[in-house]
Amino acid sequence: ENTSNQIAAGEVVERPASVVKELVENSIDAGSTNISVEISNGGISFIKVVDNGSGIEEDDMEIAFERHSTSKIRKASDLEAITSLGFRGEALASIASVSTVEVTSRPAHREYGRYVKIQGGTLLESNQVGCPVGTTFIVRELFYNTPARFKFLKKDSTEAGYVSDIVSRIALGNPDISFRLISNRNTVIHTPGNNDLLSTIYSLYGKETAKECMEISYEDETIKITGYAGKPEIARANRNYQSIYLNRRYIKNKIISSAIDEAYKTYLMKSKFAFIVLYIELNPLLVDVNVHPTKMEVRFSREQDIFRAVYHAVNNALLSKTQ
Ligand code: ADP
Ligand code: MG
Repeated sequence: ENTSNQIAAGEVVERPASVVKELVENSIDAGSTNISVEISNGGISFIKVVDNGSGIEEDDMEIAFERHSTSKIRKASDLEAITSLGFRGEALASIASVSTVEVTSRPAHREYGRYVKIQGGTLLESNQVGCPVGTTFIVRELFYNTPARFKFLKKDSTEAGYVSDIVSRIALGNPDISFRLISNRNTVIHTPGNNDLLSTIYSLYGKETAKECMEISYEDETIKITGYAGKPEIARANRNYQSIYLNRRYIKNKIISSAIDEAYKTYLMKSKFAFIVLYIELNPLLVDVNVHPTKMEVRFSREQDIFRAVYHAVNNALLSKTQ
């Protein structure tokens, strides 16, 4: 049983940043407004995620770690129009199979919470405890029992960088949630959670970047596009500052990237990439998200329409600036 979980872990859990991603996405799905992530040694020895979400019912605590256990799909047709971030019920089982996990959780309507400790997929402890409403996950010694995978980890500071990238990316997609990232006791990210994208950009990238952003606003029958496009002056040397969210989920997609490039074409040198944060809202039925378990790659059934809409959305923002 734990072997198959470890194999699944290979797909879902590659490094500390992927653990953070899964835990934070669960916190978002649980309706949290405050999510704090704390790591030591780039998350290799220690990851702690604290949320103020719905909590986990006592009876569901141990079940949540079973493979394919998810509370997020009620019926088969839900699969066609997934809106929650997680839906495979694989993450917790995978993480717990390759580390030591402690969870403390309490739903708002309960007087007590429950604490569960699992190591390498084996339940070690399960007790009733007093705790605040919400959920706390602690993950220690990632890959302690899978040396081949442990060897693939990079040095602490590199892993910490990956964690920071993922938290920034998630924070940027959820301006209504306040995120905090503490790495080796230093606060490296703290977003306001005031539902204002521009102040979230400010808190992540600084005043200079926020000042040089133009608002994007576009809508037609099938698609709605909002966000901020950086002026050509703050273009970067790589694509790392292009964050695209489809129905609130971070994605990578060639069609959208090339539409952005095309819109900036006359303003940028070839080696430069625009700073941009793009929110795309599209009927989930026009999207195939189920391409890979980590769910970053998506396919569209109407690529031409998407290209055109993104091009116009970005181009309009750029034109409004030059007037
Ligand atoms: P999935 O997110 O695909 O459903 P996971 O393995 O990530 O699967 O989580 C299993 C289940 O544990 C979730 O469906 C949810 O019911 C519960 N869960 C996990 N994390 C949290 C959390 N932070 N708050 C509330 N419930 C949670
Ligand atoms: Mg999940």
